[in-house]
Amino acid sequence: RSTPPLLDVSDVTVRFGGITALDKVSFQVEAGKIVGLIGPNGAGKTTLFNCLSRLYEFSEGRIAFEGRSLTEVQPHGIASMGIGRTFQNLALFRTMSVRQNVMLGGHSRTSTGYLSNALRLPSVRREEQRLREHVEQVIELLELGSVAETVVADLPFGTQKRVEFGRALITQPKLLLLDEPAGGLNHEEVGALMDLLRRIRSELKLTILLVEHHMNLVMRVSDQVVALNFGRKIADGTPAEVQANAEVIKAYLGAE
Ligand code: ATP
Repeated sequence: RSTPPLLDVSDVTVRFGGITALDKVSFQVEAGKIVGLIGPNGAGKTTLFNCLSRLYEFSEGRIAFEGRSLTEVQPHGIASMGIGRTFQNLALFRTMSVRQNVMLGGHSRTSTGYLSNALRLPSVRREEQRLREHVEQVIELLELGSVAETVVADLPFGTQKRVEFGRALITQPKLLLLDEPAGGLNHEEVGALMDLLRRIRSELKLTILLVEHHMNLVMRVSDQVVALNFGRKIADGTPAEVQANAEVIKAYLGAE
């Protein structure tokens, strides 16, 4: 028997009143791949991300992660299952330092919460030590060392986005959901992001699902691209296949 894909989205449907935001969407993500999720505005990309992080309930269909249905865990259990995400509108503590923000991301995964911390159990102390070491590794990987003590609000937007990345990486996800990582970045920063995504995949053996409007970035870093339009999947294949797909071209040209 072959191993199941890391992520298996099967016939997922989400309705908001009269709008079908996702209409029987199915696709699979193999471990170790970078998969781009594209589509014009309103195609359903964010809705799918919100289903994957259990922020939205889906009325029909199934999402399995490592063969296990997502609905078996509580929404707050998603991080410990191994799914991490970033947000389009950064979810950072703006008055805290870079290091504090990355550190706090780690508290959502481990048991080193405020209560167990107060109890100071030996195993908790070891876990805290491991978390601190991991924070330094993530800061180094993201080249944030020189600004580790800087308050997030004082940093340029591109750097803030890397902190958001760190906040997700510290949970040690197997699957990282990136919501428009290139949004608002300049040309140079997009180039650095491409290098970073490739480095993260090879060094951390991470699987990445990426919602992105920056086509050049998606087509250059993805192994597989899934295209949505009006809640329906219209293409799924290699970047070259999806770029050449007639329905994708039509969706982007706005022809109806
Ligand atoms: P964008 O690229 O603009 O972020 P998207 O592909 O992420 O678009 P979604 O945000 O998933 O698209 O929206 C899909 C559809 O579902 C849209 O018609 C949107 O208006 C609708 N929608 C999304 N969330 C809600 C909600 N909470 N309540 C009602 N309608 C919603």
